[in-house]
Amino acid sequence: ADVGDINAETVQSKSVSQHYPLCMSHLMKGLNQEHHLKYLGRQQLSLFLKGIGLSVDEALKFWSFNFTKGPMNLEQFNKEYRYNFRHNYGLEGGRINYKPWDCHQILSKASPSRDEYHGCPYRDLTSEKLTMELNKMGITDQYDVNTIVDNSSRGDYTNACTKVFELTHKKEIEIATQKTKFDLSLITHPNLYFDRSRKLAKV
Ligand code: SF4
Repeated sequence: ADVGDINAETVQSKSVSQHYPLCMSHLMKGLNQEHHLKYLGRQQLSLFLKGIGLSVDEALKFWSFNFTKGPMNLEQFNKEYRYNFRHNYGLEGGRINYKPWDCHQILSKASPSRDEYHGCPYRDLTSEKLTMELNKMGITDQYDVNTIVDNSSRGDYTNACTKVFELTHKKEIEIATQKTKFDLSLITHPNLYFDRSRKLAKV
């Protein structure tokens, strides 16, 4: 697989992060603001990043760099968090090779409280905040915005997310489907969102 350019730096750069679904860009934003993420946020994001090809060494670089931007120092990070991230790569404890969470798993966890960023934004953001996020992604057409917000308030979160994917990749999808049959099934996994987006960028 073409994962050579996934490292501690590039996962925060536009070239890679443009392929993240809203849940993951929301977690990245939270990490940037807090220089920290609580347990469920750490799990959701770190297993996703592992899934896109971030190695354990690069993951430790990425998390320690971001956690030590605030008051925490490297010693504290190593003491309190290193184990957690290595554990996610199956290098500690029961040595289980944990898989990235799919949307169903993400939605089965407790909703985020005020200072938490895990979960699915299509479920967890208010309609106003979700509309703002959609606008930021370039989705401004009132009909499109309403469709997505309606899907979300009905509980069709993966439908809302898939619709966002289709709208933000309109041109690429058009080109791809002219050339070959392109998989446009429902997006039920953040890593599927990422892989599909990356594939389209190469068409
Ligand atoms: Fe993430 Fe899935 Fe929600 Fe999309 S539907 S934002 S991939 S949890």
